[in-house]
Amino acid sequence: MIKFLDLHKINLPYQTAFQEKMQQVLDKGWFILGDEVKTFESSFAQYCGTKYGIGVGNGLEAMVLIFKAYIQLGKLQKGDEVIVPANTYIASILAILQADLVPIMVEPKLETYNLNPDLIADKISSKTKAVLAVHLYGQLAEMEQINAIAKEHNLLVIEDSAQAHGAAYQNRKSGNLSDAAAFSFYPGKNLGALGDAGAITTNDADLAKVLFALRNYGSEQKYYNEFIGVNSRLDELQAAFLTVKLPHLDAENLKRKDIVKRYLTEIKNDKITLPFWDGTDNHVFHLFVVRTQNRAQFQEFLKQNDIETLIHYPVPPHQQKALSKWNSLSFPITEKIHQEVISLPLSPVMTEEEVSYIITILNQY
Ligand SMILES: *Cc1c(COP(=O)(O)O)cnc(C)c1O
Repeated sequence: MIKFLDLHKINLPYQTAFQEKMQQVLDKGWFILGDEVKTFESSFAQYCGTKYGIGVGNGLEAMVLIFKAYIQLGKLQKGDEVIVPANTYIASILAILQADLVPIMVEPKLETYNLNPDLIADKISSKTKAVLAVHLYGQLAEMEQINAIAKEHNLLVIEDSAQAHGAAYQNRKSGNLSDAAAFSFYPGKNLGALGDAGAITTNDADLAKVLFALRNYGSEQKYYNEFIGVNSRLDELQAAFLTVKLPHLDAENLKRKDIVKRYLTEIKNDKITLPFWDGTDNHVFHLFVVRTQNRAQFQEFLKQNDIETLIHYPVPPHQQKALSKWNSLSFPITEKIHQEVISLPLSPVMTEEEVSYIITILNQY
């Protein structure tokens, strides 16, 4: 069986380094908000090219905290509207709702699965104050266009970079293409921890200051609370593990791209629509997502041939039970995507033989 993602194999090269780091943390006896978090925050900010990095508990909370910090700063108010792609992972929508803001869903482009900038202007009302741009599947959203529209209408731009660690547009990395960006280090992401973890990047000193406090009970100085904060801290241990892995992120992303180049040139089957890629650094292929008409049959065929696949995602947010208020809305492109997409195995630790086998089976379908 070729696994969709072999997390054991992905973390195997780092095991000795992880164990050394773990021993160091144990010897020190300091587990929350210490030197390991500080080190990772500054190295991740440096990697992204931003002035500040703020470690937090996970990717969802990274987004919620950005919104809450803007509310503290008076740049957002409860009830303000946030533009978000309709086909995103539900976390993006949940973050908007958890900050008492209102999601305004916009259709993506079918080719890139990312927010269609041409459709944003029509959705802007007097209450619209921000765009949450999601770099879905690892491909950057069209940030130049999105930032231009945002500037014209005085909107904040926030990146959901949970799937796009290291993706770059004209040498500027994801995390440094907007006012503030949220990252997840969920184990399956391109930069994955050994548990939950997240971070925020920004160049805004005022925002960073509020975020450092908000993630820790709204407190800058212990037992003195300036804001109604939350507990969403990055652990010392997870920070230490991420510091071990960060220097290898670019090489791992390149390995993903090598496999993708083979998939894109060698998969030849009219029944399978391959993803669009312009060949630049704007895609780090967190996922290799294809589309097909009879998805269930296709997935069963691959399973019979020992290839594990996943669907990202089977139900669009506006059709989820939890979001019943939005159930009557219609997003035809989003709905088509959710009916047809399926993700093939892709990771930096796949062998040439596995890739060749997958290509052969796909071409036989
Ligand atoms: C993984 C993911 C998140 C949430 O990250 P968590 O760390 O699981 O909270 C948010 N948005 C997108 C697009 C994601 O893929």
